[in-house]
Amino acid sequence: MAIRPTIAAFGQVDGQLAVGGIPLKRLAERVGSTPFFAYDRALLTDRVRLLRSTLPQRIHLSYAIKANPMPAVVQHLSTLVDSFDVASGAEMRTALDTPMPAANVSFAGPGKTAASIAQAVASGVIIEIESFTEAARIVRAGERLAIRPRVAIRVNPNFEVKGSGMRMGGGSQQFGIDAEKVPSILDKLVAANVEFLGFHVFAGSQNLSAEILCAAQRRTVELILELARNSPPIRYVNLGGGFGIPYFDKDRPLELPAIGANLAELLETLIEPNLPGARVVIELGRYIVGECGVYVTRVVDRKLSRGRQYLVVDGGLHHQLAASGNFGQVIRRNYPIAVGNRLCEAADEAVTVVGCLCTPLDLLGDNVSLPHAEIGDLIVLFQAGAYGLTASPTAFLGHAPPIEVIV
Ligand SMILES: *Cc1c(COP(=O)(O)O)cnc(C)c1O
Repeated sequence: MAIRPTIAAFGQVDGQLAVGGIPLKRLAERVGSTPFFAYDRALLTDRVRLLRSTLPQRIHLSYAIKANPMPAVVQHLSTLVDSFDVASGAEMRTALDTPMPAANVSFAGPGKTAASIAQAVASGVIIEIESFTEAARIVRAGERLAIRPRVAIRVNPNFEVKGSGMRMGGGSQQFGIDAEKVPSILDKLVAANVEFLGFHVFAGSQNLSAEILCAAQRRTVELILELARNSPPIRYVNLGGGFGIPYFDKDRPLELPAIGANLAELLETLIEPNLPGARVVIELGRYIVGECGVYVTRVVDRKLSRGRQYLVVDGGLHHQLAASGNFGQVIRRNYPIAVGNRLCEAADEAVTVVGCLCTPLDLLGDNVSLPHAEIGDLIVLFQAGAYGLTASPTAFLGHAPPIEVIV
């Protein structure tokens, strides 16, 4: 991906990156210490607006909190999206602390314990069943609490979605109920005292091909229609998401208009005629928050070793594991990086940017061209709004956790 448009999205003031309109050095003073994550409130709002204006109006937009569970971010998004997807009891509490109604929160993910299921039944969120054990736990929790659980079935589809950064459906999976087993679990649910709402298919994450995503959405709708033939009436159709964002040089942004057109056609030709009035959901994490956040670290050392110039920063993989290449990447490539207080200067030096951990894995920029940076300068890693802090091993080496701000 080109770094210029990324910088332009945030804006600059006096040769410095601006986040929330605040130049970076001033923001660092305001935060009080480096490293930190900063999320741009206006960019978050714009991102949801872009989705709203490009996807059909009828689509319910859900935010998958695990991408960025910072409470202030979730609060901000609670007024912009239609629903939240949570994947743990803790995320459920974060969601329920916002004005979002519990009825518009869905709870997915493997390994739901009896305790987290009781929490979900008591709060009235939609529980997305991923196993027969979970189904039994839900029924028992409903009986014990005298509350009718609201449930959907997460289906492991009978197809795979190619080109995803992480595949989470098709073949053998820890996620969802295999499509061919859905009739037997439906029999059990119909016999029990639960409110069955519909189906959910989430087949993969970080996909940049509109063509593949459109084909996956079509197959998902066809599968759900097939399952719906022998199920109680369907009021909830969660088509998943998987929309990717560009991280690397060769990546091109997703063609969102093509996805909007495809969804409009699926709604008109398949969903509306067969499942009139059903709530049709697209759930996105990374696509909503990923490009709206930066990770900011300070240069603490410059070091030349046998011809290679190093910049040592006060952050590292313990805060931003993905940028080091250790979160799901097969081949390590550089995340977009800049000297945030020298945007107007020429990139005239090849440097290797490393973090402060005592491991060669702590590599944030491998042989990147940057303006000459001095100790005290601020190094910015972009695309840090999703799967940053909470997807990183913060306890490793015992450094202080980074601060997060939304501006
Ligand atoms: C992780 C997850 C998401 C969000 O994925 P992104 O790639 O961040 O959009 C959505 N739904 C479910 C069920 C998930 O587990």
